[in-house]
Amino acid sequence: MRKAWSILPEEWKPLLVERGVRPFRAEQILQALYRDWIDDWDQATTLPKELRERLKAEFPLTDAEIRAVSRGLDGTEKLLVGFEDGEAVETVLIPARDRFTQCISTQVGCAMGCVFCASGSQGIVRSLEADEIVAQFMLGRRRGEITNIVVMGMGEPFVNYDATMRALRLINSGRGPNLGARHVTISTCGIVPGFARLAAEGIQFELSVSLHAPTDELRSELMPVNRRWPLDELIAACAAYTRQTKRIITFEYTVIKGVNDSREMAEELARVVRQVPMAKVNLIPLSPVAHRPDLKTPDEQTMLMFLDVLMKRRVQTMLRRSRGKDANAACGQLRLSRAATPMRTTSPHRPSSPVE
Ligand code: SF4
Repeated sequence: MRKAWSILPEEWKPLLVERGVRPFRAEQILQALYRDWIDDWDQATTLPKELRERLKAEFPLTDAEIRAVSRGLDGTEKLLVGFEDGEAVETVLIPARDRFTQCISTQVGCAMGCVFCASGSQGIVRSLEADEIVAQFMLGRRRGEITNIVVMGMGEPFVNYDATMRALRLINSGRGPNLGARHVTISTCGIVPGFARLAAEGIQFELSVSLHAPTDELRSELMPVNRRWPLDELIAACAAYTRQTKRIITFEYTVIKGVNDSREMAEELARVVRQVPMAKVNLIPLSPVAHRPDLKTPDEQTMLMFLDVLMKRRVQTMLRRSRGKDANAACGQLRLSRAATPMRTTSPHRPSSPVE
């Protein structure tokens, strides 16, 4: 059965016509879904009752609910969104001066196993369907007008490529929620085949890559995906992507005390990133992770040293800070903090914001 929030706006008319429904109903449906923001077909009062019943039976709205909310002092909110089968993911809402960003998840758990990530430590449960990704947006937008989406929640979007792209195309559609493509950022840990696929989409989503280490030895230790796609393959894919799309790639580098925070690492990072024609770096100090107490946050001096090394090598760099530490906003923390219940949740690469 197809869920309404997985159907692209242009797909409604043919779906209705093949069911003997008059085509003008498609516009009324889109109006109900994405202008009136219904969460129950009975609220679509411009449609006849009989059609509403058919829609309920054939194209139901996704059964998703907020099961828990964790609020941070900085205004960040983490929502635990539960689905019909009892599984749940985390979505994070991050307010800032001029934007309201939502970090969304694409999988329940994650198979990638990055050592600093609670989601990775829990393994994969299942991938989300497109409508479940859209449902997070729908629940988030009831708490404020979403201006930006970052696909940095629990899961690896390039592993769940088709559902993720369908959800993002729907959210981006002018006849749907109409969120601008440049306001959508997809974050990958480095699934190399995903770069060419995304480039071929011809859509202007932003792309960010979780790098976190500039050498194969260290990166393979922190991020097992590097054993499958080592740095030279990853960087070649990034360079090809920027050449083809003329779009910049953002490299995320989480600085971990005593692990990847030396001057030599900073210099190597500059060397690696400079191989990509259009690139910038976000430097993020590690947030404490409950399942790895041995991984520590670096001091400010180290962050500034990193920034200095990169800037001197003319690498465009932003120093960022993790948001919502007190809202369990680091990877998978809300899920872990509720592990005593049957709920499942999580999170990911980690939302961040510029240092103010
Ligand atoms: S950081 Fe991202 S890719 Fe790595 S384990 Fe966590 S969710 Fe998966």
